[in-house]
Amino acid sequence: MNPFDGREIWFLTGSQGLYGEDTLAQVAAQSQQVVAQLDGSPDIPVPIVWRPVLTDAAGIKAVMIAANADDHCIGVIAWMHTFSPAKMWISGLEALRKPLLHLHTQAHRELPWGTIDMDFMNLNQAAHGDREFGYVQTRLGVARTTVAGHASEPRTAARVGSWARASMAVATMRNLRLARFGDNMRDVAVTEGDKVEAERHFGASVNTYGVNDLVAVVDAVPAKAIDELVDEYFETYDVLPELHDERLEELRYGARIEAGLRQFLTDGGFGAFTTNFEDLGGLRQLPGLAVQRLMADGYGFGGEGDWKTSLLVATLKAAAHGLPGGTSFMEDYTYHLGPGPQRILGAHMLEVCPSIAGGKPTLEIHPLGIGGREDPVRLKFSAAPGPGVVVGICDMGDRFRLVANTIDVVPPDAELTRLPVASAVWEPHPDLPTSAECWLMAGGPHHTVLSTALDAETVEQFAELTRTELVLIDAESTPRKIRRELKWNATYQLLAGGLR
Ligand code: MN
Repeated sequence: MNPFDGREIWFLTGSQGLYGEDTLAQVAAQSQQVVAQLDGSPDIPVPIVWRPVLTDAAGIKAVMIAANADDHCIGVIAWMHTFSPAKMWISGLEALRKPLLHLHTQAHRELPWGTIDMDFMNLNQAAHGDREFGYVQTRLGVARTTVAGHASEPRTAARVGSWARASMAVATMRNLRLARFGDNMRDVAVTEGDKVEAERHFGASVNTYGVNDLVAVVDAVPAKAIDELVDEYFETYDVLPELHDERLEELRYGARIEAGLRQFLTDGGFGAFTTNFEDLGGLRQLPGLAVQRLMADGYGFGGEGDWKTSLLVATLKAAAHGLPGGTSFMEDYTYHLGPGPQRILGAHMLEVCPSIAGGKPTLEIHPLGIGGREDPVRLKFSAAPGPGVVVGICDMGDRFRLVANTIDVVPPDAELTRLPVASAVWEPHPDLPTSAECWLMAGGPHHTVLSTALDAETVEQFAELTRTELVLIDAESTPRKIRRELKWNATYQLLAGGLR
């Protein structure tokens, strides 16, 4: 399933009636040319649709309201080709509920120094038309991304593409429905949170089902569906020999969980879910393989009832669709503190997404000392090396906070032959002690989303567009700077949140 299918971005061009029909026709032609340049970039994952040039407040407000109402439209780009007096944008910008990108560009690259006259100057005046637009957006406090550069430059298209992916994340989160099977793990703090605020702030709807509601669907899965899935497993993975014969029945039960879970989620229109090993009802195994394969198909997942991380997994997976690399639920587990570079070994009880795998996963079965059920089947692999980002979300009581860290996923120093689960090894920026000190001061969670497909820029834009606090730990971070940022953030968030 490609979340970008059927989606589009609208391109709005600002001008005014003062210039006359001939000039407005040139404005239209040149803005169509800018759209064509951007639309041809492989870095922009969704079509950009040109809309007629806007010259008055009524037209601007009407197109913004149409953008809000159109489910295909995930965001709006605005460019002031000429001078578009910005008071006429106020009511439209106040009405807009979709992500906004202010593109600051112009049709030409080089100035025609020898021939330039006032007609050219009057046609190509985004240099001050966009400053007028920037002022009014800032005056109104409009959340947006600002990108400056010629449309033919790869950097410009890449930044527009990154914003388009953040806009996909916003659209996904706004429409996401999450099914929790059971509640949170008892006594755990960071997986708790305000589900009413999540729906108000992000749009996502989070509801709990008794795990035996799922068991009823799992138990009713027909044998044929299980046969087909098991055939698929044998074709897709290196399957442990005992799962071919003496333990085949346990693999078939894993397939039964996958088919049942998939049906439950499909029937309910859910894009994300959680499980809790303390509350498995009539399930004979903790869902491992099933969760891993559903995540690979784009579903959000959080362990131990962690619905906030599950929402973030689904959202960032949608944003990352089509990019090389992968995106998974992750948990910081244990450290390598030297010799050599200090590293984090991340994993979970079972549930790591094979989209981040470095090679063909093996399908295995091992005991699980937690949950008190039968041995669960699971995929095992090591994550592929490459640059990436980990992102966590926590509820601060009066707001949500995202904490992110840029990382490099690296191969393990030696093969993890005795580890029975999938894992990832990474070096956090700027180094492990600094990253960990900053993360702990920020109150970042132990559950995260690890992505080697997205970079920090898309995460930052998602935070900006949803007005969510983000503490980003990167190569420039120091504990001192982060401590100050946290204090400033606390003040800003208190004021920006306002009274309700
Ligand atoms: Mn966990």
